[in-house]
Amino acid sequence: MTAPSFRRQGILFVISAPSGTGKSTLCGNLRATPDFIYSVSCTTRSPRPGETDGADYHFLSTEQFESRIKAGEMLEYAKVHQNYYGTLLAPVKKALEEGTDVLLDIDVQGASAIRSCSDALIRSSLVDVFIMPPTIDELERRLRKRGTESEEQIRMRLDRGREEMRNWRLYRYTILSGSMEEDLTKFRAIMRAERYLSSRLTLV
Ligand code: 5GP
Repeated sequence: MTAPSFRRQGILFVISAPSGTGKSTLCGNLRATPDFIYSVSCTTRSPRPGETDGADYHFLSTEQFESRIKAGEMLEYAKVHQNYYGTLLAPVKKALEEGTDVLLDIDVQGASAIRSCSDALIRSSLVDVFIMPPTIDELERRLRKRGTESEEQIRMRLDRGREEMRNWRLYRYTILSGSMEEDLTKFRAIMRAERYLSSRLTLV
């Protein structure tokens, strides 16, 4: 008897966490593996030192961003910290159809838009994970350590962080953030289990 072989639809891993939690570093570590393709978001915010257009974000003007919304090119978008952020639909859909997993680093509004998306493939592919900072004080410490935001921006991000933390229950998984290694181990455990879900497999 020949061994059965399976084909699997791609998984859409969505990670949300208050700004400063360490999510970008976590996603950076995950990106360094061949496990997923990372969806590069569009944003109207200015690049931070060291950020590259096309790798960290597609940096767009407000007019360019709004014309993409009008053209129906966005899977989801939201205004975060007074700037637009959004995910392009076409590359995500193509990857999922090909059985490739996709990683999205988006805020709670974006995650909520994807949960109620009209596209059945997107909804059935979704695995959403919330990374919870240990405490607000620790979040503030991590944000200040990064040293890229003004005092006003830090305040704004902390206020928004508190708001975002109220939404953790909407996510399928919640990871209480510890060290980067611990967060990675926990995320990988989720990733492995989700890949064996029978409902995602087709016998070929
Ligand atoms: P930052 O300015 O620190 O890079 O990102 C600020 C926030 O925007 C983070 O919470 C991040 O998850 C969120 N974000 C980044 N890309 C997207 C996106 O494509 N859509 C949405 N809704 N949020 C995003």
